[in-house]
Amino acid sequence: MASNKKLLMLPGDGIGPEVMGEVRRVVDWMDKRRAVSFDVEERLVGGAAIDAEGGPVSDSTMEKALAADAVLLGAVGGPKWDEVPFELKPERGLLRLRKDLELFANLRPALCFDALVEASTLKPEVVSGLDIVIVRELTGGVYFGEPRGIETLPDGTRRGINTQVYTTPEIHRVARVAFELARKRNNRVCSVEKCNVMESGVLWREEVTKLHADEFADVELSHMLADNCAMQLVRAPKQFDVIVTDNLFGDMLSDAAAMATGSLGMLPSASLGATDATGRIPALYEPVHGSAPDIAGQGKANPLATLLSFAMMLRYSFDLGDDADLIEQAVQDVLAAGNRTGDIAAPGAAPGAATVSTEQMGGALLAALDRRAA
Ligand code: NAD
Repeated sequence: MASNKKLLMLPGDGIGPEVMGEVRRVVDWMDKRRAVSFDVEERLVGGAAIDAEGGPVSDSTMEKALAADAVLLGAVGGPKWDEVPFELKPERGLLRLRKDLELFANLRPALCFDALVEASTLKPEVVSGLDIVIVRELTGGVYFGEPRGIETLPDGTRRGINTQVYTTPEIHRVARVAFELARKRNNRVCSVEKCNVMESGVLWREEVTKLHADEFADVELSHMLADNCAMQLVRAPKQFDVIVTDNLFGDMLSDAAAMATGSLGMLPSASLGATDATGRIPALYEPVHGSAPDIAGQGKANPLATLLSFAMMLRYSFDLGDDADLIEQAVQDVLAAGNRTGDIAAPGAAPGAATVSTEQMGGALLAALDRRAA
C-alpha cells in the first residue's frame, strides 16, 4: 500500500462544496479499490471563512496548506460578500494561497472531449481534437504590482492604480515550465504579451527569446500579441500547443479557450511552485470556474472540472499517472454515454432534454471507474 498523502480540501463557496463532494466519493473509491489512501483534511476558504473565521483564509488554514502535499480548492466568492472591504474579499483568500505557496505557474489544459464537440459554441471542425495548455504566470504582474490603490485627487475626483511589473527571474521561471511541458507534448510554445504598447511586454518577449536560445532551442517558439491570441483562440485554436503568458492575459485567454471546449464546467487547472530542498513541489489544484452563485445549491453544477483537477493532482503531485488516466478515461465514458449537466447539454437540444444532477454525474463516474477497474 502506498504511504498516505496529505491532501487539504478547501471547498469554498457556492457550488464549491457540491463539486468537492463528488471528489470525496472518488477519494473513498480509490481507498477501497486502488489501495491509494489520502489523509484528507477540510478547511474553510473564501466567503465561508469570512463568515466563520473573520477572514478569507485563516493563518491555521495557511499552515495546513503549507504542510500539505497538495491542496484541492472548489471556488470562492459570491454576491453575499460583495460589500466586504477589499482586503477581506473571498478572492483575497485565493490570492494569499497562491502567493504564500509561491505558485507561479498555472497550467490550464483546454481539451475538447470527443463527446462534447457539439457542446462547443464553435464549429465542430474548429474544436474537434483540440488539446492545448495555457501556462499563466500567477504571482506577478498587475494583480500584485505596486503601487496600487484608489486615491482622491485635489479636485475631488478619484484615481485607481494598478501596476504591471515583471522581472527577468519571474519571466524565466514560468517560461521554463512552458518549454519543459512542450517537450513532453508537441514541442511548440507560443509566448503572448502586448509588446506593441507595454514595456513589460517588450521585456517579456526579449527574456523568453533569450531563455529559448540559451536552454530550449530544440523547442519551436513563436510570439503573438494578446489581442490577436484571443482572436486566434476562437478562430483556429488547434494551431497552438503550449501558450505562455502573464497573469492578466492568461486569466482572460484561458476563459476564451474554455468556450472552445464547451464549458467552464469541464476545465481543470494546476498551480505549481518551485521544487523545495526535499523535492516537494507546492501545488494547488482547482477548477477554472468560479462559485456560480446562479446555480449554487441546486444540484446543477458540473463536477467534472474539479474531478479532472483531482486527476491532475494524482499525476503531478503524487506520480499516480495510471490513476489519473483512469479518471480521465471514466470522464470520456460518462460523456460518451450521454450524461450531461446543464452547462454541457448540446445547444439546440430538445426542450426538456434530460440532464443529470451533480450527484448523478458523480455516480456515473464511479460506475465507469468500477467498470474500468474491474
Ligand atoms: P463562474 O465561473 O462562477 O460562472 C460563470 C457561468 O458559468 C455561470 O453561468 C455559471 O452558472 C456557469 N458555471 C460555472 N461553473 C459551472 C459548473 N461547474 N457547472 C455548471 N455551470 C457552471 O463566474 P462568475 O459568475 O463570473 O463569478 C461568480 C463568483 O465566482 C464571483 O464571486 C467571482 O468572483 C467568483 N470566481 C471565483 C473563482 C475561483 O474561485 N477560482 C474564479 C472565477 C470567479
